[in-house]
Formats: sequence, C-alpha cells, structure tokens
Amino acid sequence: MAAKERTLSIIKPDATRRNLTGKINAKFEDQGLRIIAQKRLHLTEDEAGKFYDVHRERPFFKDLVSFMISGPVVVQVLEGADAVAANRKIMGATNPANAEAGTIRKEFAESIEANSVHGSDSLDNAKREISFFFAETEIVG
Ligand code: ADP
Ligand code: MG
Repeated sequence: MAAKERTLSIIKPDATRRNLTGKINAKFEDQGLRIIAQKRLHLTEDEAGKFYDVHRERPFFKDLVSFMISGPVVVQVLEGADAVAANRKIMGATNPANAEAGTIRKEFAESIEANSVHGSDSLDNAKREISFFFAETEIVG
C-alpha cells in the first residue's frame, strides 16, 4: 500500500509569467495529487537563498536565486499516495531536454534553470520545505 504523503511544490517565475498556474495545477490534479495549501508570493533574495541553501556552493546558485526572485511564485502543498515520488514523476527531469513526454518540464520548461516547477526530493526535505512556507493551520487536508 502506498503511503499518503505531503510534498512541497513551487510554480516558478517562468511559469507564473506565462500564466501557466492552472495548466500546471491540472497536471497535479489529473494525476491524483490534491493541492491542500497554496499561496502566491514574491520571494526576497534572502528567502530564495535560504530555501536553496543546499546549492549555495554550486556554480549556478547566484543565477538560480536571481531567477527565483524575478517574478511571483506559487508555493503549494500536494498530498497523495507516495506524493514525493509521484510529484517528481509528474515534474520530469531537471533538464527539460531529458524530461519524458507529458511531464510539466517537457511541456513547459524554458531551460534547465527556468524549469517551471520545484518539488521536494525526499520525505524529510518535504517536511522541512513545507514548514519553510506554511504554518500547520494553513494546510487543510
Ligand atoms: P531539481 O529541481 O530537479 O530537484 P536540483 O535540485 O538539482 O534540481 O537543482 C535545483 C534547481 O537549480 C533546478 O530546478 C534548476 O532550476 C536549477 N539548476 C539545476 N542545475 C542547473 C544547472 N546546471 N544550470 C542552471 N540551473 C540549474
Ligand atoms: Mg532539488
């Protein structure tokens, strides 16, 4: 039996700019994930840097932070069976050139950086990332 999980998703600025929030949300809902919390934010440089702290030493870190604050994002909690892995599958590979047909990144991403969505990569990171953006009272499962 697949365990019911929660994962953090972010619709990134390249996607909000192109008005793709609804099309991306339909991918989650059509494939069995429920959006149980959602808000639109414009991240500060400090918030984006803290969120991507694990990538601080990577060569793309500075550009990634600039991109993530270049426009609004939509942060959301997705719930469902094996939600962490299910969402990674719906998203597709980091580089859209390697993403499978039908995935969000294959259909919508502009580049390896402007790749439309973030999704937690483990249950532990999902818990940490959800609490980065949401109070328990804002999550209605
Ligand atoms: P994912 O988002 O698939 O978990 P990573 O955690 O490795 O990928 O990277 C975080 C984000 O950093 C990516 O989604 C993408 O926006 C950006 N990124 C990753 N690799 C590169 C790269 N080689 N060049 C530019 N940006 C990158
Ligand atoms: Mg990642």
